[in-house]
Amino acid sequence: MTVTPHTASKRDLRFVIIGAGMAGLLAGLKLQSSGTQSFTIYEKGATVGGTWRENRYPGLTCDVPAHAYTYSFEPNPDWSRFYAPGPEIQRYFETVVDRHKLRNRIRFNTEVTGCHWDGLRWRLTTAGGGEDVADVLIAATGVLHHPNIPAILGLECFAGETLHSARWNDDVVVDGRRLGVIGNGSTGVQIVVALAERARELVHFQRSPQWIMPVNDFAYSDEEREAFREDQARIDAIRFGEDYWSGIRRFNEAIIEPDSPAMKEIERIVLENLERNVADPALREQLRPDYKPACKRLVYSPSYYQAVQKPGVRVERDRIAQVERSGVRMEHGGIHPLDVLVLATGFQTDRFVRPIKIEGRNHATLDEAWRVRPTAYYAISIPDFPNFFMLNGPTAPVGNFSLIDIAEKQWAYIEQLLAPLRDGRATSVSARHDALAEYESRRIAKARTTVFGSGCTSWYLDAEGVPQTWPWTYDQFADAMLQPDMAAYDIR
Ligand code: NAP
Repeated sequence: MTVTPHTASKRDLRFVIIGAGMAGLLAGLKLQSSGTQSFTIYEKGATVGGTWRENRYPGLTCDVPAHAYTYSFEPNPDWSRFYAPGPEIQRYFETVVDRHKLRNRIRFNTEVTGCHWDGLRWRLTTAGGGEDVADVLIAATGVLHHPNIPAILGLECFAGETLHSARWNDDVVVDGRRLGVIGNGSTGVQIVVALAERARELVHFQRSPQWIMPVNDFAYSDEEREAFREDQARIDAIRFGEDYWSGIRRFNEAIIEPDSPAMKEIERIVLENLERNVADPALREQLRPDYKPACKRLVYSPSYYQAVQKPGVRVERDRIAQVERSGVRMEHGGIHPLDVLVLATGFQTDRFVRPIKIEGRNHATLDEAWRVRPTAYYAISIPDFPNFFMLNGPTAPVGNFSLIDIAEKQWAYIEQLLAPLRDGRATSVSARHDALAEYESRRIAKARTTVFGSGCTSWYLDAEGVPQTWPWTYDQFADAMLQPDMAAYDIR
């Protein structure tokens, strides 16, 4: 690290944050509370909320307990249910932004298209031809963002209405009609549960079945909300309490040690759920996965098996041959005539910050740095991309827990990387090449042994089939975020 004490003096840094979803807002709120004067959040959409703004499909819910899915500094006593519905989460973010008067820091409808490091600062361009500069760039662009439109033959020929789950259109009538839902990740399952009774007929197309973790969702009464309001300890008891955290730790143990007792317990629960709650043996076999639970992100649902046993609902396990004008034709013959086709087919999860063109030191581009796979040192920083930090970026923890908590821990880490910049000891910070290489070789070796790498396909896997996730425990992540190893950084 090169320190120049004779010139060191405090610097007012200018920050640009890309994205006004959960993580970008967090960065803005933190910068604001630290007294940072100069920062702007660029948001290509018309309002805040990110994934909660984009996803408006029927049944949208967050399967993390609502009281744990909030900023630690902004508890919300008013959640209507244990698992909050999506629109309520969207309102939460809108309310927090207004309470903190953050809205005027956000440039809405402004898509950042390029960021170029000129040797001293980042120079940004936007789709409308706007320009800006920043000392520090925070990418909070999310991962579940660009819809994956499946390459199914004839999809464009369908005469009915087709919509992706993340591009829901309220004008499309679903009540009393013949619906097809392709995909059974967390999204497809939530949609099927919500529409099973509203549709005249519903076909759930499953290329591969999912293990379903039964959960208990319930509404909070007015009295309970009043009690949350009067005594924050009740909220903390959920958010920081033993029930939630022991669950996360057990789940985590299962993911990183697929032969652990914790995994055996998950296997027992999901198997029992299937055996007990699906009456028809043929349907039960259709719904039985042939891979380990949690290999794909575990689907939490209180009522999926009940939904697919309702009259008019059908599970289709045959492969889709093609989509035709009137519906979906299966490989082994037969066609499902449909009015509406819902694509709950997930997202292109290798994109991260892209398609924004990021050009760092010595013309390094993100496309080139991520030619093999998207990565970052401890999910935060990339060599040759000075003062460029990511929230919920590649290799960060993902799973059935609150990503708000992950982003808060990451921000605490980034704050420490900013210290030499703020106090004038340095003008640029980025991870060293050798540090990233060492981190990645350890991470990849461990990631291959996690349940995510145990033999299924999922959005957790990169192009080479390696889980692109944090492969150690949640507590190890929390420890790693407590303090950066500054020797791993190129600080100039
Ligand atoms: P996903 O988990 O990636 O699932 C996509 C589904 O589409 C899979 O069932 C996949 O089948 C199927 N599919 C994709 N291409 C297909 C094709 N060509 N033909 C047939 N089927 C195809 O996507 P998601 O359900 O939108 O969920 C993504 C993530 O969003 C979740 O894992 C979770 O992290 C997040 N999410 C969270 C919540 C929550 O409550 N917290 C709710 C919704 C979503 P295969 O399995 O065979 O590939």
